[in-house]
Amino acid sequence: MQKKIAVLPGDGIGTEVTRGAVEILKAVADRYGHEFQFNYGLIGGTAIDKTGHPLPEETVTLCKDSDAVLLGAVGGPKWDHNPPHLRPEKGLLSIRKHLSLYANLRPISFYASLSEASPLRKEVIQDADFVIVRELTGGLYFGKPSGRRVEDGQETVVDTLVYHRYEIKRIIELAFTLAEKRRGKVTSVDKANVLESSRMWREVAEEVSKDFPAVELEHMLVDNAAMQLIRNPRQFDVVVTENMFGDILSDEASVLTGSLGMLPSASISSEGPNLYEPIHGSAPDIAGQNKANPIAAILSAASMLRNSFSLEEEAKAVEAAVESVLEAGYRTADLAGGRTKSLTTEQMTEEIKISM
Ligand code: ATP
Ligand code: MG
Repeated sequence: MQKKIAVLPGDGIGTEVTRGAVEILKAVADRYGHEFQFNYGLIGGTAIDKTGHPLPEETVTLCKDSDAVLLGAVGGPKWDHNPPHLRPEKGLLSIRKHLSLYANLRPISFYASLSEASPLRKEVIQDADFVIVRELTGGLYFGKPSGRRVEDGQETVVDTLVYHRYEIKRIIELAFTLAEKRRGKVTSVDKANVLESSRMWREVAEEVSKDFPAVELEHMLVDNAAMQLIRNPRQFDVVVTENMFGDILSDEASVLTGSLGMLPSASISSEGPNLYEPIHGSAPDIAGQNKANPIAAILSAASMLRNSFSLEEEAKAVEAAVESVLEAGYRTADLAGGRTKSLTTEQMTEEIKISM
């Protein structure tokens, strides 16, 4: 299989962990006889320094011309005092818009060998394995009108929650399609006892569920969902929800397994290539020290193999290699928990490559 992959390393440890992920993709290509072409683009602070723009036009063109995009992370203290249009994070928001990324998928899986890193008791978190599907284009974050005004002498603020039916439909369909390939359960999270948008969300979920008879649909109010994630995370398979609820719940869920450096994400496009990135940031505190955990980036690459190229066997091989390396006791500093000997980013990548 021939594929063009746009690689946007970004800033800080973004450059270090994407190097690891590219190494693994190259190993997959060799082993399974694929041809992956890697083309590099600038984004974030590094792009500001080199071009004066957090997302240069060439990067947008490069991404649109690729089959998938691999992103590291953007940001760092160097650019924190820049004006808003010259912030690294602006690059990330713009690329999401340019690529029409409407869904963010965050799989949360628990590794028995890392149970000491979780804030939950082992009996509770054990076997948890679910995906949060967050809507990215609508909801409270983009609704108009929004802003401040003075009304009857009172300073007043407005935010508006807007959803179009098609936006709800495509994200719910994505959730059902995923659930079909997993354990066959969708939990649709809303606030239908209060919000009209949530009532339409529920309606659409019911409609879509008719096309997926093998998938069970359950509705859950968001306040309850926040509690259930901690109380019994094993009950979930695919959780689908609107933009702001998803923002909050996916951060909540990301700490359950106790390791930021382990979690990948995929952003799905309605028309072009998908984008894959670790959920962690550029980690300025450890940047340039060859000690970042590359696993989140490597698992993001595995997600690319599965979701963009339909290379299920290859994706599983990468995931299994990660698991076996952890089981064998290999740890980067973030996972080592004070143990004296930990692996560098490069050594961890190498171990994963060897056990594939
Ligand atoms: P952003 O705002 O860009 O999401 P952040 O401020 O949330 O960034 P991160 O950059 O994700 O934070 O870092 C949070 C903490 O986790 C830091 O102490 C960082 O060193 C650590 N960390 C994040 N990712 C990794 C990783 N891959 N390996 C090791 N440590 C990591
Ligand atoms: Mg963050």
